[in-house]
Amino acid sequence: MPNCPKCSKPVYFVEEAKALGKTWHKTCLKCTSCKKTLTPGNFSDKENQPYCNPCYQKNFGASGYRAGAGAGAANSYQWNKK
Ligand SMILES: [Zn+2]
Ligand SMILES: [Zn+2]
Repeated sequence: MPNCPKCSKPVYFVEEAKALGKTWHKTCLKCTSCKKTLTPGNFSDKENQPYCNPCYQKNFGASGYRAGAGAGAANSYQWNKK
């Protein structure tokens, strides 16, 4: 039985929520910032801490939000077309 990364207690099948490659209690999978309960697949993460999407945008949206990767891909596309 896997242990919850948040409270370190065993997670029973009926209360499990898989996220970030780990098995959490549904009740332990909460936004690190606002404590809102999260659903697997409907949140973002930063350094293995889960955040709801609004909090992620608010806390990390401006800087490291993969904007660089997107711009790089667009540039190489242009480059290949030439
Ligand atoms: Zn837990
Ligand atoms: Zn939040």
